Amino acid sequence: MISSRRRFLQQLTLSAIAVPTLSAYPFTIPVQKTELDRDKPILKVALMGLGGYAERVAEAMQSCSRAKITGLISGTPEKLNTWGEKYQVPEGSRYNYENFDQIINNPEIDAVYIITPNALHHSQTIRVAKAGKHVICEKPMAINAQEGQEMVDACAAAGVQLLVGYRMRFEPNTLKAVEMRETGQLGKIKFFQGQTGFKIGDPNQWRVNKELAGGGSMMDIGIYAINGARYMVGEDPIWVTAQETKTDFETFKEGVDETIQFQLGFPSGAVASCLSTYNMNHLDRFYLVGENDFVEMQPSTGYGPIKGRTKNGPLNQPHTVHQTVQMDEMAQIILDGKKPILPVDGKVGLQDLKIIDAIYRACKTGERQELQLG
Ligand code: NAD
Repeated sequence: MISSRRRFLQQLTLSAIAVPTLSAYPFTIPVQKTELDRDKPILKVALMGLGGYAERVAEAMQSCSRAKITGLISGTPEKLNTWGEKYQVPEGSRYNYENFDQIINNPEIDAVYIITPNALHHSQTIRVAKAGKHVICEKPMAINAQEGQEMVDACAAAGVQLLVGYRMRFEPNTLKAVEMRETGQLGKIKFFQGQTGFKIGDPNQWRVNKELAGGGSMMDIGIYAINGARYMVGEDPIWVTAQETKTDFETFKEGVDETIQFQLGFPSGAVASCLSTYNMNHLDRFYLVGENDFVEMQPSTGYGPIKGRTKNGPLNQPHTVHQTVQMDEMAQIILDGKKPILPVDGKVGLQDLKIIDAIYRACKTGERQELQLG
């Protein structure tokens, strides 16, 4: 007969294996609300950079129950007018890039969502933090880890939160896959494959300008495979190797990567093999292999619907508008102190930047880079 002490120790060991990383487990997968939470405080958000993605965010925020657009920051006066009218943001809460530090005096703004080209995130985050407002920053949080660290430090010094627009970390089928791993349904995780890329098109856009983008495909789309490897495997990598290939030297100048393949090693012995590219379409796939089962997500990071399947059939979580759920969840993180299932804070953004720095170093040197993500 098994002693109660032995049984206790066995249960302890089992639960330690089954729930290795997530403090929030067991968890509730966030759903999109259909009714306003009228009795709860609303996060008042200024959007900075009124381009393509900001437009998507603004539309999605019309369905938010806990977040609302109350400010606008843009270098284009006509946009401030049209967006201001469309989203009912009064003139007194419209700013340009020269005067937005004045938000410090605006009680109608709690947080600024920075949706500008990557290289601007660093200085803009520091200015917003100095104005005493919380920061939601698009990915990549910055263009290297040093900048990322300075942003984390500036927000900590100002006593404001720094969150990164990792919308997939709130996506229901993705979280279902995470739950299956956490509860041991997949068995010991052995391998992850992350394939992310698309053909970039217009060679004159900021995304292929080193000064504004900080790099190439890795900064824009490869970061999804990096971040995805971490939440799918459920560990942080300890080494990386990487190889770059370039076929179009006109579009992808020095410092702008076209295609990079990279491999990650994790403490448990699991490995990942990933591809980031600006020169192939039909690449939006995650494949996670455990000893008992697999999860294939395809599409895995687009705007949805995200599709997943295991050997037992499809994952059946509801489709959500990613940006609506993200902003409602971020409002709860900032206003209620909610702990999300998967963190989206500046530390996660900084860790991704450390991996990106190491990938670029690995491409240059041809050598494996050890990682200490902290
Ligand atoms: P975009 O080119 O459509 O918009 C960028 C905006 O920044 C424009 O309104 C532009 O006028 C403004 N801007 C301000 N200063 C500028 C300058 N010096 N040079 C150029 N433009 C300047 O780009 P986007 O697709 O909206 O991307 C913006 C950010 O959002 C990027 O960091 C990108 O990685 C991120 N993004 C995230 C997602 C996601 O799914 N999370 C999707 C798309 C983009």
